[in-house]
Amino acid sequence: MATINIRRDVSDPFYRYKMERLQSKVEGKGNGIKTVIVNLSSVAHSLSRPPAHVIKYFGFELGAQTNTNPTDDRWIINGAHEASKLQDYLHGYITKFVLCKKCKNPETDTVIKDGHIVLDCKACGQRSDVDLRLKLSGFMLKNVPKKGKKDKSEKKARRAKAKENGGDAEQNGNGHGGSGDSNSDNADADDGDDAPDAGSDDELTRRINAEAKEIDDNHEAKDDVWAVDVSEEAVKARAQQLPDDLKQKLVVDEGDEDGEGENGASTYDSLGSWIIEAATSKGGISNLDDVDIYVKAKELGIEGKHKTLTVLAQTIFDDDIVAQISKRQSMLKKMITSEKHEKAFLGGTERFVGNEHPTLIPQVPKILLAYYQEDLVSEAVLKAWGSKASKRYVDLPVSRKVRQAAEPFLEWLQNAESDEEESEEE
Ligand SMILES: [Zn+2]
Repeated sequence: MATINIRRDVSDPFYRYKMERLQSKVEGKGNGIKTVIVNLSSVAHSLSRPPAHVIKYFGFELGAQTNTNPTDDRWIINGAHEASKLQDYLHGYITKFVLCKKCKNPETDTVIKDGHIVLDCKACGQRSDVDLRLKLSGFMLKNVPKKGKKDKSEKKARRAKAKENGGDAEQNGNGHGGSGDSNSDNADADDGDDAPDAGSDDELTRRINAEAKEIDDNHEAKDDVWAVDVSEEAVKARAQQLPDDLKQKLVVDEGDEDGEGENGASTYDSLGSWIIEAATSKGGISNLDDVDIYVKAKELGIEGKHKTLTVLAQTIFDDDIVAQISKRQSMLKKMITSEKHEKAFLGGTERFVGNEHPTLIPQVPKILLAYYQEDLVSEAVLKAWGSKASKRYVDLPVSRKVRQAAEPFLEWLQNAESDEEESEEE
């Protein structure tokens, strides 16, 4: 792969700091048109910067939405953008966020301290300030402490997955093993993925998780990223803008045995996508109001559908799920109107926990207890659910694992005195 000098003003072919020229391709059309930067990880790695910062910088400069944590190394900017123009912007990024202000050496460390961003030059020792008025500076300041935490949880998740699957890796990225900082995390996270049929859902939930994790972008970046316009057209347009692979994975593809066919999967996707976007723009799923969620579901005409609960279980919680259940209780109660709804809700929960948040698996008993105590899912449905694993929502090993984790709760339920005892169906 041809490389170019990191410093554009240096033409010396022996200049030691090189990077690949940005390679991009435009995909899709109409509202869904987007630019995939194929080798962003490699370029960012050459700059010793997280790819997320680089793509975010592009997003700010172009006023376009980007992703910042793709699990498949597909770095995307909405809209069609020429590689040469992106290369120009990259030059701007390098000048502002990489090169030492004194000696212009690119070997600098980014030090964030006391609300300042400092480039610490390894060549000359100069410490120069990054302009804090730049939007990316705001983004960086907001995202400092996340890293360690995230890495840890990802590692845990990775271990759990590896254990569970014997570590068979597949569907990892697009054939170019990236080597950037956060990218290597992402690539690792794909290791030990689930069986191919469950892979797509897993990928989705992982993305949801990724989106939820980058929540802090948005106090600063809000305007650029997910402006919340709730008109139906706007929502549809936004759903269009999402990467295709995200778009399709939200929901449930099982057959409609119940005549809900009039609502294609895309309607559910719209809801899920909207929730993710709105949560992101509000700085966290906890900040997204029940009423807004309900109104959106209603606007899409699916507030009464059982599958809606599958979407909700996958989107309205994060690591704080146990506490969040009781906060969401009244909305959920309003929307869970039959056993079918309860089962769909449990199914979504199984995906959320089993596929994407394996670190939450030990909390399954608490989660189920909260469902039970908040009267969201009946004893009978819980017992039936616990009685056998199912591949309806996740693949069997995951399903078994979740149920196994549920054991203490199920035992407790078995022994608990309850008025519902007689309606038990096992
Ligand atoms: Zn220097």
